[in-house]
Amino acid sequence: MDLLNTLVDKGLRRVPPTRGEALAVLATSDDDLLDVVAAAGRVRRHWFGRRVKLNYLVNLKSGLCPEDCSYCSQRLGSKAGILKYTWLKPDQASEAAAAGLAGGAKRVCLVASGRGPTDKDVDRVSETIRTIKEQNEDVEVCACLGLLSDGQAERLRAAGADAYNHNLNTSEATYGDITTTHTYADRVDTVQKAHAAGLSACSGLIAGMGETDEDLVDVVFSLRELDPDSVPVNFLIPFEGTPLAKEWNLTPQRCLRILAMVRFVCPDAEVRIAGGREVHLRSMQPLALHLANSIFLGDYLTSEGQAGKADLEMIADAGFEVEGTDQVTLPEHRAGGCRTGEGGGCASASAASATSAASPASEAGEPRTDLVAVRRRGAGTDLAPNA
Ligand code: SF4
Repeated sequence: MDLLNTLVDKGLRRVPPTRGEALAVLATSDDDLLDVVAAAGRVRRHWFGRRVKLNYLVNLKSGLCPEDCSYCSQRLGSKAGILKYTWLKPDQASEAAAAGLAGGAKRVCLVASGRGPTDKDVDRVSETIRTIKEQNEDVEVCACLGLLSDGQAERLRAAGADAYNHNLNTSEATYGDITTTHTYADRVDTVQKAHAAGLSACSGLIAGMGETDEDLVDVVFSLRELDPDSVPVNFLIPFEGTPLAKEWNLTPQRCLRILAMVRFVCPDAEVRIAGGREVHLRSMQPLALHLANSIFLGDYLTSEGQAGKADLEMIADAGFEVEGTDQVTLPEHRAGGCRTGEGGGCASASAASATSAASPASEAGEPRTDLVAVRRRGAGTDLAPNA
């Protein structure tokens, strides 16, 4: 297929596809799916080999958020029966992190619900970061605390944070449909603050919220412009008790196309399969490793993932290897700070119009509430974590 040859050629040279080409990936048919995966897999292997980076989530503070993000089980007014607790103490967080690291993770993601941290919260998380780093050599720490105020990113960096996560989630045009308590511009501003403070920026999206293909392409091109080192791709878990509980829009094939599109647009970024991997990719998870070079090990913030042991077995069975602490995740040009690719920097994406390619064969997902399990172990409980 000419489209795929073009996309591989561009991906190997870090040249962005056109918007039309990105849309065409989403519109490929099920008959072409393996060809799409193989093509994006070539780009993935070029930049990341067969390595899979494992990340481990520690939910420092769960639930009771004043914001109204429709997709979130921790939102204002959520009726989802999730764990609710206030800040973990540094030793509790470090203990949870150690379980993930022992399971093979090299990055710990410290997440707290809320609009954004107060300065006291930044002090608290800084102490937690220092504790984790003292107790676990070589660990990478990413903080995810919401919208940052001036100076907070610098303070987290000084405390030892390596990265900061704040997702754009969806396109600017539809952002107001999913959240009213903050804006898309607020989110962009926080990613830029993290960048400016010397933190590795991590920013991604959520698919499956009823968005169009154009919305998905918009948000991925916006991410490319922001140039995060890591791009988590979440597949909406439609929690009962949230406004999006009925949005079962994804099929495994659709998820694979989305991951392939993200890989072509952000060829040398760490593309991470995030929440919803087990629920939406299901038995196609191993195929997705040909597209993404990073996953979360074990459980998510408020839902349970498959057993950490099953994650490791899946990686080995699919012919991939867990990335070690002695291996550098990002290609050399990125790790060295040079972000300008041959053929233009990250803001040079063409604005070509959409193609009129036919819609893919299978789009509507069946509700799989049977696969959604609220997290009842690990951080905030007396039970051992899944790692
Ligand atoms: S700010 Fe974060 S924790 Fe709060 S509702 Fe939005 S996504 Fe959920």
